[in-house]
Amino acid sequence: MARLQTFADLIELAREGTRPLDEIFLDEEAAEREVPAERLRQTFLERWAVMKDSVRRGLAGGKSFSGLVGGDAKRVIEFTRGGDIAGGHLVAKAIAYSIAVLEENSRMGVIVAAPTAGAAGMVPGTLLALSEERGIDDAATVRGLVVAGGFGALVAARAELSGAAGGCQAEQGVGAAMAAGGLAFLLGGDSETCVHAAALTLQNTLGLACDPVAGLVEVPCVVRNGFTAMLALAGAQTALAGVRSVIPMDEVVEAMVRIGEAMPRSLKETADGGLAMTPTGCRIRNDLYQIK
Ligand code: SF4
Repeated sequence: MARLQTFADLIELAREGTRPLDEIFLDEEAAEREVPAERLRQTFLERWAVMKDSVRRGLAGGKSFSGLVGGDAKRVIEFTRGGDIAGGHLVAKAIAYSIAVLEENSRMGVIVAAPTAGAAGMVPGTLLALSEERGIDDAATVRGLVVAGGFGALVAARAELSGAAGGCQAEQGVGAAMAAGGLAFLLGGDSETCVHAAALTLQNTLGLACDPVAGLVEVPCVVRNGFTAMLALAGAQTALAGVRSVIPMDEVVEAMVRIGEAMPRSLKETADGGLAMTPTGCRIRNDLYQIK
């Protein structure tokens, strides 16, 4: 997106005209790819269908190939149906749906990376929960998905989005920030509010280590998607209430890159630190790979 490299560019473009964020992203991308914007919107609709299906399949349950995870999304949603919930149906569904996508990923099912497979839960999980609770149809929800995707593209233009390069902050932190931007947009936030939602969310994941047990995208990754979904809801809620990120989003992204560079190798997807190297993490790894 030639005219759109930073979040500051995005706010400037939004101030210049009357186009909402989803149209700005689609128009810029369409111009760069030389395809009609409507075709891109159609592609987003198709991705949304896959995302919703990954939630549905994830909720059906079943263990991962390793047997380490599976069934937690179903547990959360069934508990919710009992009515005994701490944060309301939106919160419960956002947690369950976000976990469901990662459980499906752990079974090698089809998911849409958002921005990566390990962080694929928050965007569909939170947007679907909101759309169901507020009665928002697919066409309208996809506008939030476009915003989330556009936010992810802007971060990806300046940072590597992998746990191996930047720790989990670069995967789940960015996924949660994308979700926060999309949620704020669907809830009526203006351009600056949506960017603040993302900034508030991302800054509260900085330093998050990538420490998958046995090197599998299962523990802590699956449940972590449910927890970072809560950060996305908090980011949208606070920004819509008028809370502003003191540090601009572009600078939060720069801070994330620098923190990633400073992180030890053991906390960047090597399974050589953090939870992976706890006594239980080591025992699981040794059992799975039959290490004596
Ligand atoms: S802990 Fe590592 S592998 Fe798991 S989701 Fe985070 S970045 Fe990905």
